[in-house]
Amino acid sequence: KAKDNGKNSYSFYAPDMSKSLDRKLLVEGALREAIGKNTLYLQYQPIIELKTGKTVAAEALLRLKDDELGFISPGEFIPIAEETGLIIPTGDWVIENALRELSYYRLVGYESLSITINVSSLQMKDRNFIDKLKLMVQNAKIPPEFIKLEVTESVFMENVEKSINLFREIKKMGIKLALDDFGTGYSSLNYLRSIPLDILKIDKSFIDEITTSRVLSEIVDSIIGMAHTLDILVVAEGVESEEQLSILKEKGCDFIQGYFFSKPLMPNQLEERLQEEKYA
Ligand code: C2E
Ligand code: MG
Ligand code: MG
Ligand code: MG
Repeated sequence: KAKDNGKNSYSFYAPDMSKSLDRKLLVEGALREAIGKNTLYLQYQPIIELKTGKTVAAEALLRLKDDELGFISPGEFIPIAEETGLIIPTGDWVIENALRELSYYRLVGYESLSITINVSSLQMKDRNFIDKLKLMVQNAKIPPEFIKLEVTESVFMENVEKSINLFREIKKMGIKLALDDFGTGYSSLNYLRSIPLDILKIDKSFIDEITTSRVLSEIVDSIIGMAHTLDILVVAEGVESEEQLSILKEKGCDFIQGYFFSKPLMPNQLEERLQEEKYA
């Protein structure tokens, strides 16, 4: 195997090529076998309520650790899952397992914890999505208000009306809806007004700059104000510093998620954290 940066390194293929097709096929293969081989797992990132300083929810984040390829980031495998249709069985696996784990936390005494689950717009386009979701929620015996689904603005790309109807159905079940990565897509005030949304998650790229850019800081200000006018709660994503935290507090942001509080955790680590907070 050729050394990557050595003077005498020689490889027969351009690095770009190796990255594209071969790698994609390998990742697709890993993904195809993942459920059967038990190489998928979930981590949970705490979401903290600023008013109380406590973990009120956790975002389920999918992980894939293949025997041969090692750890593959969701940034790489989710788009491949979407391209290949594997997002449907994979997404079902995520919902099922996140709900199972939430049942466990409820059983051991954390009954006010919510779980928030990322759902790809392709999953939502699946005709069976609502029926499957209903069944999974019923089987888990969890009150639906503790379940939140995170979608991105890309769901509106194709058919706004259709997505709004779908959202209404989800809301009718009692499940909450969050708009993820807000500000990176084709956000429109008009959509926001007409979607039955509970939570808006301001993208990390905005939060990154609130300490250095006055413009960004004021934009975040108005996003929070606008959300509150519409009765929507706000989560700031990717909070990494105390300074960001205090600015967001000042602005009346409702929840915070980010490395400053916690990285995504293994289920037992989340339990430890909840335990510590309970007796703090
Ligand atoms: P997302 O839903 O916006 O999740 C937040 C991402 O930001 C996570 O990356 C999280 O680890 C990371 N993050 C949180 N706080 C910080 C911080 O303070 N600093 C930095 N640098 N990063 C932070 P992750 O886990 O790599 O996931 C990336 C994306 O993959 C997610 O973005 C989501 O779009 C997608 N994804 C993950 N799990 C699933 C899933 O089960 N289903 C679907 N459809 N997509 C998923
Ligand atoms: Mg998310
Ligand atoms: Mg996000
Ligand atoms: Mg994201």
